[in-house]
Formats: sequence, structure tokens, C-alpha cells
Amino acid sequence: MSLDNISHLGGPGIDELVPSRYAVHVGDIDVLVISDGVLPISAPTLATNADSADLAAWLDDMFLPPDVLDWPLNVVVVRSGDRTILVDAGLGLEFPDFPRAGQLGNRMEAAGIDPAAVTDVILTHLHMDHVGGLLAEGLKERLRPDLRIHVASAEAEFWESPDFSHTTMPPGVPDALESVASRFLDEYRSQLRPFETDYEVAPGVVVCRTGGHTPGHSVVRLASGGDRLTFAGDAVFQVGFENPEWHNGFEHDPEEAARVRVRLLRELAATGESLVATHLPFPSVCRVAVAGDAFRCVPAVWDY
Ligand SMILES: [Zn+2]
Repeated sequence: MSLDNISHLGGPGIDELVPSRYAVHVGDIDVLVISDGVLPISAPTLATNADSADLAAWLDDMFLPPDVLDWPLNVVVVRSGDRTILVDAGLGLEFPDFPRAGQLGNRMEAAGIDPAAVTDVILTHLHMDHVGGLLAEGLKERLRPDLRIHVASAEAEFWESPDFSHTTMPPGVPDALESVASRFLDEYRSQLRPFETDYEVAPGVVVCRTGGHTPGHSVVRLASGGDRLTFAGDAVFQVGFENPEWHNGFEHDPEEAARVRVRLLRELAATGESLVATHLPFPSVCRVAVAGDAFRCVPAVWDY
């Protein structure tokens, strides 16, 4: 039986196997992880500087396919004080090769979140799998005109004339990334609230520039009532726990991206705080354990 058939066993009106959203509390801050879906990624893109046998062994160990993987794509909605903050926006709807991603609009609706209630957007960076949803019909026109969009000023500047010379992306991808980023900047320029190194968007919600993956790549640190959670964007990938020095083909400065990853993982292992990241398996809420130079992702027990 296919998953499609199973999903209909729940009865009429139920068209998804699971709700694809997961709620976490960080003190007084409400966090909802929403899956935008999954998108295919070619395995070599996960580790451009690794020996291919080492990558093949890792994939096999993780029960992952050897050639093309389903890459999870997580978005977060944060409520703090009187702000409702969308952190990243998924892929959007204009990529027919990636039909299983771009679900954000549907899934916000299923979660009862009116796009017009979103006061702020934080963008970890301007790659299309993080910003494309803001260009998607059905979501774009429902956003409020006074929406504030927080992005590192270095990120907005970078995409005026992006450098792909240190990336290793499949053919056609750099052009698509450049096109989506430049259309995003054209469409939303007047709503941008650029920051230099960090900015507190709402009580306990701080966006911090890390660089590395892209020059303005940023993470979001949440802290309230002694609880902490970091949304790491693309600073951490599934493969990056055991192999933090492996370069992802989408990293514009892979050496710096690896330094950012190791520094962040070491910090999270020391504090014991929760981690959520874009491309970790949904809902991706986990903690970080460390053993020598390698890390381990310890999933949170699902509270349901
Ligand atoms: Zn990404």
C-alpha cells in the first residue's frame, strides 16, 4: 500500500499522514516547526571535499540512498510578545522539479496561521529554498503591507552581485538562486530591515549573523525563562554532526562555513540547548552531544 492510500484511511478531508507541524515552548515563546516538504538533493552535493567512498559509507550507515536524497525543508513560526515571526519561507511554488516542497502556505493554513497575522519575517539567507515562499501566489498577496523583513545587510548586498566561485552546485542552480534572490529584493526592498551583526526582533528572539554558508547567513537564538533554542538555518546539516568538516556544495565560503558549524555545535553541546535546523529530518528538534571532533544529534522525545 502506498503512503497516498494510507493517508486516506483517516477519512474524508484528511489528506496528510501527519500534520507536518510540531509545537515547542521556549519559556514564554511559542515555536511551531512547519515542514515545507522535501526536495531532492544529489548525494555528492552533501560533501564536496569528502572521499566518495567515505560519503558512500556514511549514506549506507544512515540508511540513506546513494544517489539522490529527500532533503527535509523546515520553516519556523515564532510567537513572542505581540509579534508573530516567520523564520524562512520555504521554496515556493515555481519549481516543477521539486513538487513535494513549497507546502508552507497550505500548512500555515492547516495550522490556523493567517499570513496577515505575521508581523515579521527573519531570513537566515536568500537561497531560494529559504525565501521562495515569499514569492508564491496564495501567500504573497496575503502578507500585510507593513511586514518587516529582517535580513543581514551583508546578505542583501551579496545578492546584488553574487559570487559562486567556491560553490559546487548542480548545473542551472546558481542561475535559479540568483534569479529568485534578485526578484525577492526587487519585490520586498522597501520592507527590509537590514541588521549588521545581531538584532532583537521580539523579546528573547535574536537574529545573529554567522556568515559562512553565505556572507550574511544568520541563525536565530531564542531565550526565555531559562530555556533556549537555536534555529541554525543552513549552518548545520545531517551529515555535519559526524563530519563537520565536510563541505556542502551550496556553501559560498565552505572553509568558513565549517568553522561556523563547529563553533556552533560546540556551543550547543556545552549549553545543552535545543537545536532546530532547516534541513534536519522533521521536526528536527534535538540536542547536540560531542565526542572528540565529532558530534551526535540526539532527537528530543516527541511530546504528543
Ligand atoms: Zn537551504
